[in-house]
Amino acid sequence: MEPAPIDVTGCTFDDVRHRLPQHTARAAYRGAFFSRGGESTGCTASIHPVTRRERDGELIKFIQTTPDNLETESVILPMGQGDRNWFSLCISSQVGCRMGCTFCETARLGLVRNLTAGEIVGQVLAARRVFDVEIKKIVFMGMGEPFDNYDEVIQAVRIDRPDRPVAQQSSITISTVGRIDGIRKLAALGWKYLQLAVSLNAPNDEIRSQIMPLNRADNMTLLREAMLDYPLRRNTFIMIEYVLIPGVNDSPEHARELADYLREVKCCVNVIPYNPRRESPWPAPSEAAIALFLQTLRDAGQFCKRRITRGRDLMAACGQLGNPALSRRKPTAATAPIQLSI
Ligand code: SF4
Repeated sequence: MEPAPIDVTGCTFDDVRHRLPQHTARAAYRGAFFSRGGESTGCTASIHPVTRRERDGELIKFIQTTPDNLETESVILPMGQGDRNWFSLCISSQVGCRMGCTFCETARLGLVRNLTAGEIVGQVLAARRVFDVEIKKIVFMGMGEPFDNYDEVIQAVRIDRPDRPVAQQSSITISTVGRIDGIRKLAALGWKYLQLAVSLNAPNDEIRSQIMPLNRADNMTLLREAMLDYPLRRNTFIMIEYVLIPGVNDSPEHARELADYLREVKCCVNVIPYNPRRESPWPAPSEAAIALFLQTLRDAGQFCKRRITRGRDLMAACGQLGNPALSRRKPTAATAPIQLSI
C-alpha cells in the first residue's frame, strides 16, 4: 500500500519521529526512491528541510539545508509531451566537487563534503513528498562526482534490489566525469539496469586535459577501454555527455574526431549546449553551431541527440549548480544529523 503523503517541509528529526510510525517511515523512504517496496536497507534517510525553491514553469530547483549548515541542490525536470508528461530528478552526490572541470560552476566550490546515502535518497523523498511529482527517472548529474563518493552512492542505489523484474526497476543514471576505477567497480557489480553516462566533452586528450584535469590521469584511451568492457543490456547504450563550448570543442573537425574515437563504443552522444557558469570566459553556443555539430556527427555515423536547455536563468541547468557562498561556509558539527532509521 502506498504511504500517505507526508509534508517534510521544514520538518526536524523530532517532527518526523513523532509524526510517523516506524513502518510508515520505512515505506515513505522506499517510496521516495521507488514505487514498490523491498526489504529494509539498514541505512538511514536524512530528510533535510527544503529551505529554498525556484521555479521556471514546471522546472523546479530546490535546496535542502543540512544540519551542518550546508546545502544540497536538486532539480525536478519536466519531460515528455502532451499527455505523456513525466518528471526526471537530477540529484547531488556531494556538496561541491573536487574534479575541477573548468566549465562547471560546482567545481568553483571545491569539495565541501560527501553526502551520505540517506541524504542522497532524502532528495528524492523531498521531490516526491514536498512537490508531489511522479519521478520516473533519477539522474546523478547534480553537484559532485558520484564515483568520488562511490560507497554512499551505491548504497543509495542498492535500495532498488537488482533481482527485481526489469519492468519494476526505476530508471537510474549515474553520470561520471570518467573515473575509470568507478566504471570498473560498477561493471563488476553487474547491475545492467543502471544506465552509465560518461561526461566526455572533448574529442582528444589535449582538449580534454585542458578542461577536465582528471584526464591527465584517466586518459581517453583508458576510458574507452573501460567503456568497451562495461556490460550492457541488449538495446541499451552508454550515454556520452558532450558539453558544447564555443571555440573549445565545437568545430566540425571535432565532431568527426569524436565519432572516430567512439566508433566501437555502443553509445549515444548527448550534445549539451554550454550553460555559462558565473564569470564564464565562454558564451553559450549559437543554434547554428549546435545544428552543425549534430549534423556532422550524424554524417559520420554517430548516434546522437541534443539535450534541451532548461533552467539556465535559474542557474539550474547542467553544470550550473552550487551556491558560491558555500565555499566560505565551514561545515559545523554542532547539530546532529536529521536521520530517519529504516
Ligand atoms: S562537471 Fe561534474 S565532475 Fe566536473 S566539476 Fe562539475 S560536478 Fe564535478
